[in-house]
Amino acid sequence: MTKKAQPAITLIELAATSRGDLHGKRVEDVYTKINLPSRAIPLLHAILTQKGYTDVESIDTRYNDRGMITESDLDRIRNTDRLLASSIIRTLPQTLELAREYKKANPEGLFITGGHPGTFLPETSLHNGADIVVRGEGDKTIGELMEALDQNADLKNVQGISYKDEEGNIHHNQAREFLTEEELDNLPAPYYPEYMRGRRGVVETARGCPYACEYCGVTQFFGRKSRRRSNERILEDIRSIVDMGVNNIFFTDDHFAMKKDATKDLLKKISEDSKISRISYSAQLSVNSAFKQNSDEIDYEFLNLLRQANLGFVFLGVESINDEVLKEWSKPATAERNMKAVKAFRDNGNPVHGMMMVGGEEDTPESLDYTVDWCKKNLDSVQFFAPIPLPGTPFWDRMNEQNRIIADRLPHDYHLYDGQYVVLQPNNFTPLELQTKIFDMYKQFYGIKGNIINILKSPRPLEKGGVHAYAPRIVKSVENDPQTTDYMERLRNLE
Ligand code: SF4
Repeated sequence: MTKKAQPAITLIELAATSRGDLHGKRVEDVYTKINLPSRAIPLLHAILTQKGYTDVESIDTRYNDRGMITESDLDRIRNTDRLLASSIIRTLPQTLELAREYKKANPEGLFITGGHPGTFLPETSLHNGADIVVRGEGDKTIGELMEALDQNADLKNVQGISYKDEEGNIHHNQAREFLTEEELDNLPAPYYPEYMRGRRGVVETARGCPYACEYCGVTQFFGRKSRRRSNERILEDIRSIVDMGVNNIFFTDDHFAMKKDATKDLLKKISEDSKISRISYSAQLSVNSAFKQNSDEIDYEFLNLLRQANLGFVFLGVESINDEVLKEWSKPATAERNMKAVKAFRDNGNPVHGMMMVGGEEDTPESLDYTVDWCKKNLDSVQFFAPIPLPGTPFWDRMNEQNRIIADRLPHDYHLYDGQYVVLQPNNFTPLELQTKIFDMYKQFYGIKGNIINILKSPRPLEKGGVHAYAPRIVKSVENDPQTTDYMERLRNLE
């Protein structure tokens, strides 16, 4: 790095706000209530500090009162030389609004963005205020990009970026290779500012997924080869998060037990360490992880290890209990295996949070009634997702070719692409019917009346009861949010 004055670098992640407005109020939904720390910002912050940058600050408006950007945030932003914004599809509209506001206040400053939207919609960001877009994994790219900017070097040699030159022409540089396992292991521990400490912690063990579910953006972003960090490095991260006073860690992997032997070893090491085994853990798992490899036999050794490591809630991508729907989305599962896996986890004492997609081509009002009935009896908490066509996925291509995307005021409508809204024309419903059905399914699942037996039968009845007491408020708050009332009106107009 040259000796000239240090650039002021600010990393930012914005809350999901109503109608996707930069200065709007945070949407109070399940994601914002759980409020897990961002995966990207703390790691990028640590990488920049390790590279020797000293004027680095992180802002995560999800932790601010009502999720709104504050005057002091704006002060820092206006005076920053490089504003690095991480976003997901649903927060793209407010991120682009921030880009425009920032460029107006600081025309010399550079707005740099990335994540899934940057990777699959680089031109959308570049046409709406961004100067540079980091495509794919940014961990290596960000350091090289900062150094190229410090040296005023030609950006054409920085892999994995798209950018606008001084004449406004857009360039897409060569893609960057995925990080190797060794490189993942050499990344520094994420940096958590004071305001993020003492809450829930997150730890990443691996990236990538070998499956190919049609709607999934994970394989497009991280690839189909699993790349896992060593257990030594993962345990270091866990210990440092526990030292910050966190008593619940969520493994952010999309599929925690992809390299199962290594995951088993990790669980064993957690359970043997008195300091880290006293906190609780939760993870996202594939249904297949409940079984021995290439077999229909339950893997009891794995289930026991989960219990010994104090891993409680498992987040399962069940998606459907309809074989035709599972086939449609190329899910590596059958309805029978889904049901068997859910039972095995619950018998083991793990409450199951089921992630269900409703509104596949073969779903009908009757099949969804059957689905909600099954969920009530067999799950501890649930999300009923409307299928989302994420840009960059084969599902997006299919829906686009068939002209079925109805939330098409893009990029602004991306704030509706969060699984809570019906943004596609379904096969056996009108969009309004399916939207209404989804809210109704939530009410049926979380209603206390008629559910007492199901709550008592949970592996953790008190926790399930607590979720049932709290969740209806979240459902109501989503239903009453102005963005929902606006969108319901749009759906009514399509009838
Ligand atoms: S199993 Fe999960 S992470 Fe893997 S492709 Fe399917 S939805 Fe994506």
